[in-house]
Amino acid sequence: MRAYISVDLEGINGVCHSSQTQPGEPGYERSIQLMHAETNAVIEGLVKAGCTDILVNDSHWDMRNLRIELLHPKAHLTSGWQKPFSMVSGVHSAEKPDFACFIGYHARSGCATGVLSHTYRAQVFRDVRINDVLVGETGLNAYLAGAFGVPIALITGDDALQRECTELMGQVNCLVVKQAVSRYSACFMPQKQVLESLEKGAYEAAKAKTGWHLLKPPSPAKLTITLADTSMADACELVPNVKRLNDRDVEFTDKDYSLVFRVMLALGALGASRKDQYFS
Ligand SMILES: [Zn+2]
Repeated sequence: MRAYISVDLEGINGVCHSSQTQPGEPGYERSIQLMHAETNAVIEGLVKAGCTDILVNDSHWDMRNLRIELLHPKAHLTSGWQKPFSMVSGVHSAEKPDFACFIGYHARSGCATGVLSHTYRAQVFRDVRINDVLVGETGLNAYLAGAFGVPIALITGDDALQRECTELMGQVNCLVVKQAVSRYSACFMPQKQVLESLEKGAYEAAKAKTGWHLLKPPSPAKLTITLADTSMADACELVPNVKRLNDRDVEFTDKDYSLVFRVMLALGALGASRKDQYFS
């Protein structure tokens, strides 16, 4: 069995503030240790369930957080950025994974009770919608996996993420590793208990194919982005076929969701180029 794992940081137990997620800031090194521990617990469960080919995609910030020498010896690691499909790069590979897991994920931008809630570009994207439904990274990425025929077997993060997943996908394995109190506060669960439940959850998720969820993207898919700043929208509307709806909203539609996803990434990079350090 082939498994694909996308690992983010904000949804890891023990993390509740943005400074803990930024390289060079106090607390970052500790967060990375916790990130390795949760990732390795999941890999161990997958290995015990019979997965022989495991690809981990580092999906946080500059995507150079996980260290191969600290990762479970059975896993491969894709590190760094830029890479096609960003947080879900590799899910589209010729050697198609049987399923994908999203570890350390978090609630979408605008979710008041989601720990470190944001969607891809925290300082650029205020809201992201697919066919008028608000989505976060989980939804955007699960649709991309779905476009390539890869189902989601397991998602982990806080309880706000679990609610978001249930709203979007209905029945899906989502393991809660911490309880959200607010955007910058959480009630952490005992670490040993979390690691045990991740290993067990991954084992069971890999074994029970009936629990896998293939989230097929809509076609056509309409992407609507509310930008943080009007100058970001000015930049985004320069892209062919991107429509300016109003001061802050831009829209792009295509039948091919993988193209819509790439345009979302491009608009994020373009919007980020308009960040004003004094005036936002
Ligand atoms: Zn994220």
